[in-house]
Formats: sequence, structure tokens, C-alpha cells
Amino acid sequence: MAVSPELLEILRCPKCRSKVEIDAEETRLKCVNPECSLVYPIRDDIPVMLIDEATVEK
Ligand SMILES: [Zn+2]
Repeated sequence: MAVSPELLEILRCPKCRSKVEIDAEETRLKCVNPECSLVYPIRDDIPVMLIDEATVEK
């Protein structure tokens, strides 16, 4: 797994402070808050938790 479960547990969306979950391909992290729905990239196994880098996916 690209991102450890322990790290996933502590990561929060910087916009809304909700949890994030990893997608099936393990290449992106998605905010679980449906009102927010920001998706953060993972680069070189490092989650990029920056609003500027995120995309919105409804
Ligand atoms: Zn969010």
C-alpha cells in the first residue's frame, strides 16, 4: 500500500477537516465529506494535502 493505514488515520482534509480515504488505484486521496469532495494526489508515496493541488470530484 502506498500510504500506510496509520497515516491515513491521521490525515485530514485541510479544507473541511474531514477524514480522507484512498481510492482503488491508491493514487489519490478523497475527502469523505460529500459537500467538499476534494481529491488529493499522491506523489512518490507522499500524500499532497494542499488545497491548491486538489481537484473536485463529485
Ligand atoms: Zn474536505
